[in-house]
Amino acid sequence: MAHDSDETFPEIREAVRRLCARFPGPYWRALDRERAYPTEFVAALTEAGFLSVLIPEEFGGSGLGLAAGAAVLEEIHRSGGNGGACHAQMYTMGVILRHGSAEQKQAYLPRIAAGELRLQAFGVTEPDAGTDTTRITTFARRDGDRYIVNGRKLWISRAEHSDLMVLLCRTTARAEAAKPSAGMSVLIVDMRQAVGKGLTIQPVRTMINHATTELLFEDLSVPAANLVGEEGQGFRHILDGMNAERILIAAECIGDAKFFIDRASAYAKDREVFGRPIGQNQGVQFPIARAYVQMTAASLMVERAAALFEAGQSCGTEANMAKLAASEASWYAADVALQTHGGFGFAEEFDIERKFRETRLYQVAPISTNLILSHVATHVLGLPKSF
Ligand SMILES: Cc1cc2nc3c(=O)[nH]c(=O)nc-3n(C[C@H](O)[C@H](O)[C@H](O)COP(=O)(O)OP(=O)(O)OC[C@H]3O[C@@H](n4cnc5c(N)ncnc54)[C@H](O)[C@@H]3O)c2cc1C
Repeated sequence: MAHDSDETFPEIREAVRRLCARFPGPYWRALDRERAYPTEFVAALTEAGFLSVLIPEEFGGSGLGLAAGAAVLEEIHRSGGNGGACHAQMYTMGVILRHGSAEQKQAYLPRIAAGELRLQAFGVTEPDAGTDTTRITTFARRDGDRYIVNGRKLWISRAEHSDLMVLLCRTTARAEAAKPSAGMSVLIVDMRQAVGKGLTIQPVRTMINHATTELLFEDLSVPAANLVGEEGQGFRHILDGMNAERILIAAECIGDAKFFIDRASAYAKDREVFGRPIGQNQGVQFPIARAYVQMTAASLMVERAAALFEAGQSCGTEANMAKLAASEASWYAADVALQTHGGFGFAEEFDIERKFRETRLYQVAPISTNLILSHVATHVLGLPKSF
């Protein structure tokens, strides 16, 4: 089924659809059951160059803008697959691209573009800090030409499937920093050297297949040359990347919403009860139509946020609003698709229940709905701050 918002990047969309057709429902179901990593799917995407679309051509990528990356991820999700296993390979490199030294860009970006290096772990969240990133305590102490890292991170996805990790840690304690968001720094951690030598990775089993983990740092030694940008300015350095992440994940939500709307519409036309298709009943068709309206509106917000990002303009509010609108549209569409399928919505073989679980994540990660509402309330509407 064609949707209004399918018009951008038709060639990319078509190529991603063809690739995803090789990885149908049974592939994702089998992985979901085992909580296994989609190695073949990620390899196929890498080989086709879809994970390096945002890397400039001078470093071996396609040099396309964020909207192209959004089209790739949207189509993956629309096909019934999930980009969570590798979406960070697209955007985590942004911190090196925007804030890294010339040597770091040369050392990493061409190899990331070629798929020789996987940089798809982004270590920010900590168990005791939660959403208040200024409360992170993982600390990198400078010792000559190295940093010695100690601390804990939680919910760090794909850490076991990454050669490098972008790590946000403190280099000045919060109490001693000029302001709470100062005194944090970004380090590139080479996972191949770190695991077993100061870094322990513990997988965390969740309701979805997401390869997420807990990390323990015990005197991990990282070369000082792996500092990205300025020491103490790490929080500022990762902000752009967070906007990109929110916009791309919003695109995944749009893809999910389209998947649910397509499946619900098809089923409602086909399934006959009381001698007519269930979709002939307005009680069944109206919720699907509402899901379509919500998805289309959210999709426009995603396009707007991506356009601002590509133009280098401030887009924090728009990226947040796109993520909120898209994650609510996908969750509503998921609920409608499940209801439309009746009992079959719960059967694994229809893929609705799996996608239903998967799309719920986006109201919590990478940023939860309440925090977005709080941003809009205080930064846009000028309401008093509550924290
Ligand atoms: C599957 C998965 C994968 C993830 N992958 C990564 C990753 O790769 N890297 C990474 O760094 N992180 C990752 N995360 C972490 C994710 O970004 C956080 O879970 C998310 O930002 C919410 O933080 P929290 O879980 O600490 O919730 P908390 O901060 O503990 O908040 C709990 C709830 O309280 C609400 N809340 C908190 N404070 C307020 C307030 N002042 N006003 C109103 N409501 C409030 C929140 O909205 C939320 O609903 C992942 C999480 C999951 C579940």
